[in-house]
Amino acid sequence: MISLKKRSCPECHGEMQPRLINLLYKRENCELEAEVIGIPANVCTTCYYRIIPGTIAKYIDSLVDPIFAAETAQRENPLPAPHIGIQFPALERDLYCPESTCSAE
Ligand SMILES: [Zn+2]
Repeated sequence: MISLKKRSCPECHGEMQPRLINLLYKRENCELEAEVIGIPANVCTTCYYRIIPGTIAKYIDSLVDPIFAAETAQRENPLPAPHIGIQFPALERDLYCPESTCSAE
């Protein structure tokens, strides 16, 4: 399990809080979309700038990339491009954000 480190926002220097966010993944020249739900990220409380830890971003890319590759490799699609949903379980905040590195709400 990864934990998020407390840090300030690189855009506005505001305070960042760990949150679970959702992202829609798309690729050029591919109609397929993958919605990824429940990604742990640091979110700025002022400007909502979001930082996903590199390890998590790489992991999600490794999940969705083969799906995009398979879709792109189709010569004749028998069906319209599907909507893919990937949902990570909602975690207690202190599982990915230990008390020592995060302030209380
Ligand atoms: Zn900010």
